[in-house]
Amino acid sequence: MFDYLIVGAGFAGSVLAERLASVENKKILIIDKRNHIGGNAYDHYDNEGILVHKYGPHIFHTNSKEVFDYLSKFTEWRHYQHKVLADLDGQQVPIPINLTTINTLYNLQLSSTELEDFFASKAEDVQQVRTSEDVVVKAVGRDLYNKFFRGYTQKQWDLDPSDLDASVTARVPTRHNKDDRYFTDTYQSMPLRGYTRMFEKMLDHPNIKIMLNTNYHEITGSLPFKKMIFTGPVDEYFDYCYGKLPYRSINFKFETLDQPQFQKTGTVNFPNDYAFTRITEFKYLTGQKHHKTSLVYEFPTAEGDPYYPIPRPENAELYRKYKALADTSETYFVGRLATYKYYNMDQVVAQALHTLKKIQAETAKKPVGDELTA
Ligand code: FAD
Ligand code: UDP
Repeated sequence: MFDYLIVGAGFAGSVLAERLASVENKKILIIDKRNHIGGNAYDHYDNEGILVHKYGPHIFHTNSKEVFDYLSKFTEWRHYQHKVLADLDGQQVPIPINLTTINTLYNLQLSSTELEDFFASKAEDVQQVRTSEDVVVKAVGRDLYNKFFRGYTQKQWDLDPSDLDASVTARVPTRHNKDDRYFTDTYQSMPLRGYTRMFEKMLDHPNIKIMLNTNYHEITGSLPFKKMIFTGPVDEYFDYCYGKLPYRSINFKFETLDQPQFQKTGTVNFPNDYAFTRITEFKYLTGQKHHKTSLVYEFPTAEGDPYYPIPRPENAELYRKYKALADTSETYFVGRLATYKYYNMDQVVAQALHTLKKIQAETAKKPVGDELTA
């Protein structure tokens, strides 16, 4: 008899499996419908022996010491600060927009202070920032919004930024200095031997059994467990009873070139040209030395695996209905798909660690496993 059936072996499921097994000495069955652990952070060596991320580029960054210290139990790190260039108007300039971006784009020699005045002269007066358009036009004005954000967002989400919550483009700040890092978090590092190795260590515990290629529908009636933790799409769990929650998917096109290097930074964004949004060259992220190089192109699409919840008011409204069901259910819902939140990896780890505390508090009141769920 398992204490917990955990559905999904990504960050949410694996962190909880590890904590419940190690700290609470619970017996865990963790399953995944895919043929591997790691969820969307899964990485593997391609045919040429280059480490690639199967579900697109995953760069770890966090301000949480708790999250970083926790993951450090399972991996060493390679310090890596991600840089991104935007390819537009025949040149490649830093994104987030910074001093170098503006000086290069407009052939100027502004100082940081002059750049603040420049932005102020372009910025639109938005009283209430609600949408992804508002965020950008208020910070840098419409011209830069059109160049860097409008087309990219349309491709990525199939929506105009004015139809998306402010939080989406707010992920990308504006800078007045020359800092050209994509992230400014305190901890920015990649697992030294890759994400999958880190997950293998996390799940390597005598109390944890892993079952791959298994959809939870196939086993819930036949395998005994006391409690379930679900990390897949919340609408799927409830048989889409209120209708489908919209998710955005991506087709990944991988390519290996017979040359050691392809582009100038880990990622190059293409806001206005081509059907893909960005190209990532993995060796920048992993630090691997190889005479060839592997890239991934991201083509956003409506069909396919659910990767991104789509932050906009009508979807939040629909999610609230599912959340009301989830709140009354015996099952715990954790992770990006199960809580319909555009979370980064570190936020999912933090959410899983928080769920552990919730479970501990609840079991302190009432021992888990009084009744059978299967
Ligand atoms: P997942 O990793 O999605 O795990 C859920 C698992 O549940 C999956 O393996 C799935 O197969 C399984 N599952 C679902 N339904 C069932 C079922 N019915 N039965 C059995 N198994 C099921 N975050 C960052 O911090 N930095 C980045 O650079 C970054 N880049 C990203 C790039 C892309 C293209 C994408 C899509 C995401 C990126 N993320 C990034 C976000 C990151 O992938 C997520 O935050 C994290 O992986 C979510 O973990 P999770 O466990 O919630 O979900
Ligand atoms: N974005 C944009 N242009 C860019 C980079 C980002 O318009 O050059 C917008 C776009 O809507 C994107 C969002 O900002 O979906 C968040 O970008 P991020 O790089 O964080 O996306 P992720 O890595 O999660 O796909």
